[in-house]
Amino acid sequence: MGIIKTKDLTFEYIRRDEEGNVEGITTAVDHVDLDVKPGQFIAILGHNGSGKSTLAKHLNAILTPTDGTVWVDGYDTKEEEHIWDIRQTTGMVFQNPDNQIIGQVVEEDVGFGPENIGVPTKEIWERVEESLKAVGMYEYRKSSPNRLSGGQKQRISIAGVLAMHPKCIVLDEPTAMLDPNGRKEVIRAARALNDVEGITVILITHYMEEIVYCDKVFVMDKGKVALSGTPKEVFSKVDELRKLRLDVPQVTILAEELRKAGLPLDPGILTADELAEKLKGLYKA
Ligand code: ADP
Ligand code: MG
Repeated sequence: MGIIKTKDLTFEYIRRDEEGNVEGITTAVDHVDLDVKPGQFIAILGHNGSGKSTLAKHLNAILTPTDGTVWVDGYDTKEEEHIWDIRQTTGMVFQNPDNQIIGQVVEEDVGFGPENIGVPTKEIWERVEESLKAVGMYEYRKSSPNRLSGGQKQRISIAGVLAMHPKCIVLDEPTAMLDPNGRKEVIRAARALNDVEGITVILITHYMEEIVYCDKVFVMDKGKVALSGTPKEVFSKVDELRKLRLDVPQVTILAEELRKAGLPLDPGILTADELAEKLKGLYKA
């Protein structure tokens, strides 16, 4: 079994009036099947309200299914006796870095999690050092988090999760509040966790350009998985992606237009470099 698996995962938010009568039901996640293998880099895409955060909250048992099952490292998230194993396995990083940082000094903040679970002091410092190095923030260890940029704060949040030694990290729109530079820093850090540390990464985003390097993409719409595949497979469905209200990168649209106009290009071109290479190949001869 994968490190994370969901089978027919369905979750309903139920709204009740003051007397407790059901006023309305929103099916936020609707029969979702995921199977994530250790070491994979998975992306979950989807416009606002498509159910991404609700799905994410099932991956460390903040929410449990209305229907269907979620297994984290083999544990069914409905088994309360395994809640700590589950939370140890999957670390979560959220959108707003300001809500996630509590320490006055960067290294204290990163050490807070391990301290809380009783890791011995010497090991806490080792974990703080390795985690800050992994996200490229070691030189800021003595800084005050308030003085850092959004991208740097978000990398501190990631280091804090990393210091708990999770097998899997779920990042729920970690770049949504960042400027383009901050976004790049955070994505680079997430890729390094996966490449260098071998941690399973699940990146939730609505920026398509952030998924270029992942192993597999799931696109959500109205709580369901509307599309899935490798980035190349998903990016080759430009018209469908636009229908799902996703902003397809300009370069992918341009390549698709050229292809429709008759240039012999493959569908699903992801980057400007890739398009340049392909065009060079066509015109060199
Ligand atoms: P996303 O993260 O893709 O924006 P969400 O999982 O936050 O999507 O929301 C999915 C659906 O569930 C939306 O229709 C949203 O309005 C609804 N929803 C989310 N959180 C709650 C909540 N706490 N109570 C009721 N409905 C909610
Ligand atoms: Mg969300």
